[in-house]
Amino acid sequence: MLLRHTSKEVKEREGLTINPAKTCQPIGAMYAALGIHGCLPHSHGSQGCCSYHRSTLTRHYKEPVMAATSSFTEGASVFGGQANLLAAIETIFSVYEPDIIAVHSTCLSETIGDDLQQITRKARDDGKIPEGKHVIFASTPSFIGSHVTGYSNMLTGIAEQFAVSTGAKKNQINIIAGWMEPSDMREIKLLSKKLGIKIVLFPDTSDVLDAPQTGKHVFYPKGGTTVSELQSTGDSLFSLALGSISAEPAAIALEKKCKVGFETLDIPIGLTATDRFIMKMSEVANVSVPDEITEERGRLVDVMADMEQYFYGKRVALFGDPDQLLPLTEFLLDLNMKPVHIVSGTPGQRFEKQMRQLLDQRSPETNFRNGLQADMFLLHQWMKNDPVDLLIGNTYGKYMARDEDVPFIRFGFPILDRIGHSYFPNVGYSGSLRLVEKILSALMDRQDRDALEEKFELVM
Ligand code: SF4
Repeated sequence: MLLRHTSKEVKEREGLTINPAKTCQPIGAMYAALGIHGCLPHSHGSQGCCSYHRSTLTRHYKEPVMAATSSFTEGASVFGGQANLLAAIETIFSVYEPDIIAVHSTCLSETIGDDLQQITRKARDDGKIPEGKHVIFASTPSFIGSHVTGYSNMLTGIAEQFAVSTGAKKNQINIIAGWMEPSDMREIKLLSKKLGIKIVLFPDTSDVLDAPQTGKHVFYPKGGTTVSELQSTGDSLFSLALGSISAEPAAIALEKKCKVGFETLDIPIGLTATDRFIMKMSEVANVSVPDEITEERGRLVDVMADMEQYFYGKRVALFGDPDQLLPLTEFLLDLNMKPVHIVSGTPGQRFEKQMRQLLDQRSPETNFRNGLQADMFLLHQWMKNDPVDLLIGNTYGKYMARDEDVPFIRFGFPILDRIGHSYFPNVGYSGSLRLVEKILSALMDRQDRDALEEKFELVM
């Protein structure tokens, strides 16, 4: 009943977003910073913002998320937050002892006009940053973009502020991770190991936000890309950016600063995107693909072929983040499903162009929109007018799924009411196999639920 007020009639709106298909920039910045070893994210704004960012990440990962705040009150809101941030940097290094503080701005500090570069330089000049420690920053005004923009901005800040070119090349490849789960990062590392390629993956939230229970609380878990690894990215042979929206800007920054060439690929979700990833890795490192990976691929292809009749023509609505939606849509098309409606709250012409290109080639009749008015309200209206067999998106989709009585698969960020996303990957051949299994189970469960007694089958 929760969304029963959603009208069927679609009216063009300006300046009004209803149930946005995105969250706030600093959440992404905080997530990227957590993928750096020994890093304490710092939210330069009010305590409320920081609580929201932390609680969203905690609810998604079911793990404690540490972060500090400049704790703006009325004074800082009027006169600027420099004094708060300087005091915070001093306190954090002496009390919480991180290796790095990663500062991101918020709506409030951006509106005031606080200059994070100037404030962090002053902190260094005033001797508030101990020897061997680092303060990095990223501008993340949440009144533009989304959590994906914030992630990308922090990642770019990490590349700009850490990479060093010594002139001596290292036999390693940088993999700049677009927004993905710790499980996905773990899978990327595993695939690289199977290929026999030395990589520097950044950020890397595995062993940070999926850390094992040891009975002992540690403030900085063992995971995360280390400072020396980050510095060495400037000497790497090549960079692969996984995601044109969330990862490519960092690759561009790295190329500008240290002349490390790069190529951008989709996040390897699905058969075709994983093929591209594996082939590119094998090409840039000049290695052949081991049988182990070829066999993983074969298993995925086998299941796709065997189960094709259950996927064929099934109509899907999906919403989420650009770098995930692109390969996911491609995968659904590879499964012979029909992506009918797609929305993403993250604005940007680049993504719009990429998605339109894919749809023009393979599914021109699909409804697609991104940006401010591409919200869940619009998606829900589209679903009312043109019903689907399956909905894929983050937890907030459960209201639409319930109202329209449609099977629902949780995918993307945030997922607040289930576990598994941080432990089981969606990338690579094995991640794609898991996606196939999830989609098939959702469709089969619905078939069983709705089957007439005489058609209720024991076997598929
Ligand atoms: S005020 Fe801005 S930065 Fe703070 S929680 Fe809201 S959207 Fe995010």
